[in-house]
Amino acid sequence: MELNILTLCYLIGSITFIVGLKMLSNPATARKGNLLAAGGMTIAIAGTIFLYEEEGHKLGNYIWIFSGLAIGSIVGVLAAKKVKMTAMPEMVSLFNGMGGACAALISITEFRHLVKDFNAADYANDGYIFFSQIDPVTLLIILLGLIIGTVSFAGSMIAWGKLNGKVKDFSFPGQHIMNLVVMALILGLAGFMIAASPEETIVFFYVIVVLSVVYGVMFVMPIGGADMPVVISLLNSFTGVAAACGGFLYDNKVMLTGGILVGAAGTLLTILMCKAMNRSLKNVLIGSFGGNKAVAGPGGTPQGAYKEISLSDTAVVMSYAHRVMIVPGYGLAVAQAQHACHELEKMLTEKGVEVNYAIHPVAGRMPGHMNVLLAEADVSYDKLMEMEQANELFSNTDVVLILGANDVVNPAAKTDPASPIYGMPILDVELAKHVIVNKRSMKPGYAGIENDLFFRPKTSMLFGDAKKVLQDLIAEIKNV
Ligand code: NDP
Repeated sequence: MELNILTLCYLIGSITFIVGLKMLSNPATARKGNLLAAGGMTIAIAGTIFLYEEEGHKLGNYIWIFSGLAIGSIVGVLAAKKVKMTAMPEMVSLFNGMGGACAALISITEFRHLVKDFNAADYANDGYIFFSQIDPVTLLIILLGLIIGTVSFAGSMIAWGKLNGKVKDFSFPGQHIMNLVVMALILGLAGFMIAASPEETIVFFYVIVVLSVVYGVMFVMPIGGADMPVVISLLNSFTGVAAACGGFLYDNKVMLTGGILVGAAGTLLTILMCKAMNRSLKNVLIGSFGGNKAVAGPGGTPQGAYKEISLSDTAVVMSYAHRVMIVPGYGLAVAQAQHACHELEKMLTEKGVEVNYAIHPVAGRMPGHMNVLLAEADVSYDKLMEMEQANELFSNTDVVLILGANDVVNPAAKTDPASPIYGMPILDVELAKHVIVNKRSMKPGYAGIENDLFFRPKTSMLFGDAKKVLQDLIAEIKNV
């Protein structure tokens, strides 16, 4: 009876994950989808704690379990409440790394159980299983969970450091070869462990842990410029696959479903991000991104002449436009200017201007960053144009207002093969009649490179913090 209730809990959990994931695809339903999946997860966890039985025994260890739950919940709630919107991508990376570490710890624990059984079998051959009799598939899954989870943990920690600016890109000649050698060693040792006797191979398990940490670090270290989004989604899918290995080991359907969903969603996102960045997945895997690093002028010093536009001129140009396209970027999130931006959009719309937003897939610092930001300010979803759609509209656009975006509108991606963002599709803002760029200075964006767009004849710079500039612009437009 209890088992049936537990199965029902797992079924509810699995269904809520699938429905919740579907709801996440639309900003209007995303929040509810998240809550629904979290509710399903709570039911599945509670079911496991109170109803799971093995050979007539319940889980027990309640002090440990509830202490862990309490500490995790407190830390999670505080972190989520305190985190600034701009630090959200780092937090996502950190949490993803924790998922990978959990999966790796499950593998370590289960491996230790196997070893214990083996040692016991040495002393008394009384029904204990011999290591050599262990299903090689079980050992394979343990090793897969260990390798993928550890790589995801180590890689996510480096990504976390890179997103908060504490870890700098690092590469050396032959790094790709070294990455391949380390991966080949990991796979070779894992294969040997499965094929050989355990007595001599137990130590290899821990060597694999160390090598996987090295691989995770080395694989993310050189990746910089505009290539982080692909790595972030790839690490996300790794954690999902590692968690699915845990589900397989414990024959736990809900863990398996959750892991597969995260793994599949992460893989699809990786493919989409690869397309958006025009990179091949092969290059991601051997960490060969961002090859030639072009460097901005020292401290972002401009290399050419640019022209500025005043707030009052901006207000006039925008008020008399037929179509305005707003291009949000990371700076909009830094300034927390999404509400002011929506205000501007409403005001222009009231004046009969058609206003839309052009969303580049890697704008901001995490996949979907701009969608989340604008949804927070209740910007209507129909106003958001994907890159391809927006690129078709630019030639019929009077004014493009770029708010804290830089790399995603940098023409070097099309024209400069030495640029680290070369090949990445960009928003073709130059097709519009006027381009107004709001940022605080001439400093570069995430990729650290000069942007020639700022020096082009159609472009005018509107310097200042995005929120302040938008508030002042709204005041000016009221007087037009
Ligand atoms: P960028 O990082 O290229 O540029 C942001 C610009 O915003 C800066 O040039 C900065 O200029 C300006 N800015 C900062 N603060 C403010 C402010 N308060 N007010 C106004 N402007 C401000 O951003 P993009 O969105 O164009 O591109 C995203 C980049 O991040 C890409 O290179 C992408 O690959 C990378 N990335 C994306 C991830 C994702 O998943 N989306 C993940 C990791 C990296 P100034 O200092 O002069 O104000």
